[in-house]
Amino acid sequence: MAKTKIVATLGPASSDEKVIKELIEVGVNLFRFNFSHGTHEEHLDKLNLVNKIIEENGYIIGKIADLQGPKIRIGDIEGSCMMLESDSEVFVKNVKLSGEKGILPIPYPNLYTNCNPEERLFINDGLVQLIIKEKIDSDTLKCFVKAGGKVTDHKGVNLPDTKLNASALTEKDLRDIEFIKQHDFDYVALSFVQNSCNVLELKELLKDSKYEIDVIAKIEKSEAIDDIDRIMEVSDAIMVARGDLGIEVPLHTLPGLQKKIIKFATKYRKPVITATQMMESMVKNPIPTRAEVTDVSNAIIDGTDAVMLSAETAVGDYPVETVNFMRMVAESTEKLLTGFETRSEDHEIFDDAAIAKSACLTAKNISAKYIVATTMSSKTAKLISKNRPNTNIIAMSPRMKALRKATLFWGVEMVQCKSVNNTDELLMEVEGLLKDRGCVAEGDLIIITGGLPFHVRGITNFIKISRF
Ligand code: PEP
Repeated sequence: MAKTKIVATLGPASSDEKVIKELIEVGVNLFRFNFSHGTHEEHLDKLNLVNKIIEENGYIIGKIADLQGPKIRIGDIEGSCMMLESDSEVFVKNVKLSGEKGILPIPYPNLYTNCNPEERLFINDGLVQLIIKEKIDSDTLKCFVKAGGKVTDHKGVNLPDTKLNASALTEKDLRDIEFIKQHDFDYVALSFVQNSCNVLELKELLKDSKYEIDVIAKIEKSEAIDDIDRIMEVSDAIMVARGDLGIEVPLHTLPGLQKKIIKFATKYRKPVITATQMMESMVKNPIPTRAEVTDVSNAIIDGTDAVMLSAETAVGDYPVETVNFMRMVAESTEKLLTGFETRSEDHEIFDDAAIAKSACLTAKNISAKYIVATTMSSKTAKLISKNRPNTNIIAMSPRMKALRKATLFWGVEMVQCKSVNNTDELLMEVEGLLKDRGCVAEGDLIIITGGLPFHVRGITNFIKISRF
């Protein structure tokens, strides 16, 4: 399997047991449950099915719940779609449903108070573009159709020039969070993060869940770029959410921003996912374009930990083929990497990060076969992974939760070990498991690292070299 982790979004194209199992077999490490679509009952059915498959087959798979956030959407259009002609005029109204020609329903009151004439209103990822010409009243805008096209129910709307007074968590998100807290998700992705306070607010809400759910900050607003240092500090992981980010900032600046965000995540030692349109053409086609395979490969060279599929696995015609292709691209790209390439700058380096860095350097110097990160929280494995060593990394933990979190970390294989009482037992357990699994031969060297005492979470303070 590839070192780069693959996140697949579940949807109608990946809703049956056979497809989900095949997706895992060809390379999926984490599933994304997209709360922009579906009811709680539907998410629960999917979750139960994924859990059943995981349990029956002994897979270690992470689960991400992705909140919708304050995403503006078109309301209901009678007949489900409306044609907007280029160079025509259309009225945008704060209503849930419209059956009238020339009246586009966008039920989002803040839009009407916060926007100004000459600001842009994009529909369907910018494929249809309107310019706001006049505020007719508190619920109606007159717009010029700069680029026309078909608009269907519930398509996303973006106003890249408008500063909308919207909290990062909507009423719907709060209801979804209550549901998510009751279930064993590993990560929650927060959409439209504007600043670090948004992330802290969500962390506070998740605190009383017994499932230890970490927060992924989706970077898709230009405000988030302005507060990127603080967001990196308080988040557990980051997503370069290129779909909305590519509308909120000038599209041609997206490649540079992707590199910048990944670089920041490396500096702050946070796992980072690169998302959206990575293999978009495979929604309909059995092979990706040259540009898509190059895009996936470049994200890996930039230092992304994971690559994500959205429509490709949720509604595409070739979900399994897409994951298979993505994994092959990752495997080929990883052969080009020589180790440590993304590490140039470190945010304040304390004991734990210093130990992890030394473990990686020592592994290189002695040509160790493995770095084994023994971990109760997954942190040691993450710190090792963020150095991008060429040495194979194994996260070993008695805690399934720690191993499921590590599904997001680049290059980390997960192995469950038994609980131990002291250091001698820990070293014996690691060495025994590697031998039993046929991972080591006589004379092989490995690095074992982690925190002592072992049952205390979140510390990394030892390195041991073992010879077989
Ligand atoms: C994105 O905008 O790139 C993204 C991942 O978010 P969503 O799919 O929820 O729009």
